[in-house]
Amino acid sequence: MKIEEINKIKILGKPYKVVWMDGDKNVDFFEGKLGKSNHILQIIYIDDACADEQKIDTFIHEVLHCIIDNLDLRLEEKQVHALACAITSFILENAKNIVFTD
Ligand SMILES: [Zn+2]
Repeated sequence: MKIEEINKIKILGKPYKVVWMDGDKNVDFFEGKLGKSNHILQIIYIDDACADEQKIDTFIHEVLHCIIDNLDLRLEEKQVHALACAITSFILENAKNIVFTD
């Protein structure tokens, strides 16, 4: 499954909608960013007009924002960015070797 085919996820047991949008056609909406999220509305928006690795990084970044906001962890943006980069790297380097089974 390609990442942009994901349109529903659960975060901490709550259903979230994932919306993929062309950032070049929605410049004002994205405000210079590659993603946005709202944990109250339970929705994540991702710019899908970038490279696959960047899409994954942005997706993980916005999921982390939702987790952090739900848990009221109050991390700074640079901490979210660093965690997203580390988790994305881990996934890309190990995904083929990880099998989730019962
Ligand atoms: Zn952010």
